[in-house]
Amino acid sequence: VIGIDAGGTKLLGGVISADLVVHHRVHRLWRGADRAEVLDIMVEAVEEVRAAAPDVDAVGFGIPSLVDHDRGVSLSSVHLPLEDVPFRDLMSERLALPVFVDNDTNVAVLAEQRHGAARGARHVVMLTLGTGIGGGLVLDGQVYRGTLGAAGEIGHMTVELDGPAHPGDCTNRGCLEALVSGTAIGREGWEAGQEYPDSELGKALARGREITGALVTELAHDGDETARAVLATAGARLGAGIVSVVNLLNPEVVVLGGGVLAAGELVLAPARAVVAERALRPSGAAVRIEPAHFGEEAGMLGAAVMALEESA
Ligand SMILES: [Zn+2]
Repeated sequence: VIGIDAGGTKLLGGVISADLVVHHRVHRLWRGADRAEVLDIMVEAVEEVRAAAPDVDAVGFGIPSLVDHDRGVSLSSVHLPLEDVPFRDLMSERLALPVFVDNDTNVAVLAEQRHGAARGARHVVMLTLGTGIGGGLVLDGQVYRGTLGAAGEIGHMTVELDGPAHPGDCTNRGCLEALVSGTAIGREGWEAGQEYPDSELGKALARGREITGALVTELAHDGDETARAVLATAGARLGAGIVSVVNLLNPEVVVLGGGVLAAGELVLAPARAVVAERALRPSGAAVRIEPAHFGEEAGMLGAAVMALEESA
């Protein structure tokens, strides 16, 4: 099958066999493209890898949209111009192949649960911490989508009643995403740099550098205590969010992916400590909190797993 991860800024795809080996790869960038262009680029990308493997059976797409999985319709999307698009039917007509489509985090958690960090577990929650925070659920071995396909929005769980707002359509305050995403860590790093001008963060700020989550992580790895404290606070807040998820769903594994995980144990250790201290026993004591296995390729591989399973 062909697996395509169509993210907000780029497409990553490949021809993937049942043992999850990637045989041919394709990638594309599409900043600022309109709906027709985005769909054309997807078709071209599929045709490019299909030329190298003409015997593929199906195509799976993970897209950054609210997806009606049963009808294969992209209902709305913050990151791509894919509102009210009958995606599955449109693509299967253009490609003359069976097409399957789901939300990108839903396919990522599928890859991690079937073959990755949560292999063998029946109940799995995944959070992808990048510019924003995505969430996906596998419950009883099945992707859980909710009534409208909108389940798993763990990034919008309230962690601080009067906390900061964040960009996008969300009208809540103090969401996990407003406190622990890469964007939020950059903002907290900027504030810490103001407060502690003698820290490496403060010096970077004085030199006019843009304080991003990636820079905070880099300075923390180099030993800057102020940057480490920013990540420790983010990790503790992440842990507080995971406490609620664990109490609600009693998962075996919580998988954490996305760019923020470049901080590794600097974020994971405080998150695990808060979960161990605050989540209800026995679920809190039993849950494993693991970094994602597939990194950037989880979406592409998960799209392929969906296509393999649903075309079988
Ligand atoms: Zn929110």
